[in-house]
Amino acid sequence: PSIDWDALSSELTGIEIITDATQVAKLSQDYYTFSPVLQNLLSGKTGNLVARPVTEAQVLQVAAACVKHKVPLTVRGAGTGNYGQCVPLEGGVILDTTRLNEIRWIKPGLACVEPGVKLAALDKQAREAGWEMRMAPSTYRTATVGGFIGGGSGGIGSITYGQLRDRGNLHAVRVVTMEDVPRVIELRGDEVQKVNHAYGTNGIITELEIPLGPAYAWAELIVTFDDFMTAARFGQSLGDADGLIKKLICICAAPIPSYFAALRNQIPENSHCALLMVAECCLEPLQGLIREYGGKICYEKSAKEASKGTSLAEFTWNHTTLHARSVDPTLTYLQTLFPADKSLKLVEHMYHHFGEEVMMHLEFLRVNGTAIPAALQIVRYTTEERLKEIIRYHEEQGAFIANPHTYILEDGGRKSIDPVQLQFKEMVDPYGLLNPGKMKAWGERK
Ligand code: FAD
Repeated sequence: PSIDWDALSSELTGIEIITDATQVAKLSQDYYTFSPVLQNLLSGKTGNLVARPVTEAQVLQVAAACVKHKVPLTVRGAGTGNYGQCVPLEGGVILDTTRLNEIRWIKPGLACVEPGVKLAALDKQAREAGWEMRMAPSTYRTATVGGFIGGGSGGIGSITYGQLRDRGNLHAVRVVTMEDVPRVIELRGDEVQKVNHAYGTNGIITELEIPLGPAYAWAELIVTFDDFMTAARFGQSLGDADGLIKKLICICAAPIPSYFAALRNQIPENSHCALLMVAECCLEPLQGLIREYGGKICYEKSAKEASKGTSLAEFTWNHTTLHARSVDPTLTYLQTLFPADKSLKLVEHMYHHFGEEVMMHLEFLRVNGTAIPAALQIVRYTTEERLKEIIRYHEEQGAFIANPHTYILEDGGRKSIDPVQLQFKEMVDPYGLLNPGKMKAWGERK
């Protein structure tokens, strides 16, 4: 049945609505363009209108109108996701959360925010109270807290606190349902996993309680090494060094540093380097570790100096790919978890096996209490077939690939259907209106 857009619009009175086609198209996009595969699948997909509620009551109003008219609703934060998470596959309403941006409270170790709060804004306010975000993606300047929970996985800080999926990294959420009469459900403790990293397919998050860590003054350094494996081993050692407080261990094989235009004068040509954020109070003991691996510091900024310019963080995680692609837009990337193995055998094997076709970029993070190398390798793309072959080879050798070339929730990092998330969707979104086409389990249920 055709949708009566005029009737639907009249039910959204009092709410900011955008219908200008160019604007709507813009607010239907994210950063899926990093993937040539997703470019083919998602370009041109757009919603019909954008709603920008400012209160939870208005979110309920949008939900009710969409349910009444059986219109798809796709939630969007800042739209910095990499897998087309917030691209509407079947049109409909885009619910933009960026005006739901109140920081409700900050207590020791915990903050309560609306979903549209920017990560950097929360971090800034928390630091005034002596706390900081435990982890953030390299897009923290623009990305929202709701979007990070809905579509992200971890980032700067994950070397200490693990990933968003780990128990304790999300305390509570309020979600608006898409039932005949939409309501608000509060989920606390393990229950938050029902909507954690669900791409907005099973509830609209309207409030979150997020844990904080004690704030440190983070110095920023680049250390260069003569060969890549020494840099990688240094990264592993720093990750394992419990007495050294750190927030970021990013290791880039040559020629990746040459893509960092703004750092070109600092990093010697053809070097393999470590981009680090280490607590200022740990800089002296860090020297010993750098010496042990024969590293040379080519860039060092105190926390105060670092806060004035672009942070090194904005060259790491998927910003590494961003910088590489700004030099060569044919490049793409992979997301890999290497097994916990301090000798880094598989990293070494892949580094030599693929050479410059798959340029090694490691990000150390904590998984089940152990520092392990994750990788966002930069890939010289040729064909989709070859990309699949590269992925298959990694998997056969025992690396875990969180495929960034799919918009399907379960085919990315999860790999299996999550019965808890499916069951929750059956209850809160009985008509399957939330971000349709993204949750495989929903499409495949009998
Ligand atoms: P959006 O892209 O707007 O949304 C993400 C998903 O969450 C969508 O499916 C959306 O429907 C859903 N969603 C948004 N708000 C809600 C809500 N209120 N309720 C329910 N669902 C909701 N990610 C990382 O994890 N780590 C990184 O280091 C990282 N680095 C990146 C670097 C670059 C250069 C780029 C382009 C992306 C990177 N990302 C990274 C991906 C992305 O930037 C982050 O995950 C970011 O936190 C997403 O926030 P957002 O507000 O842009 O979310």
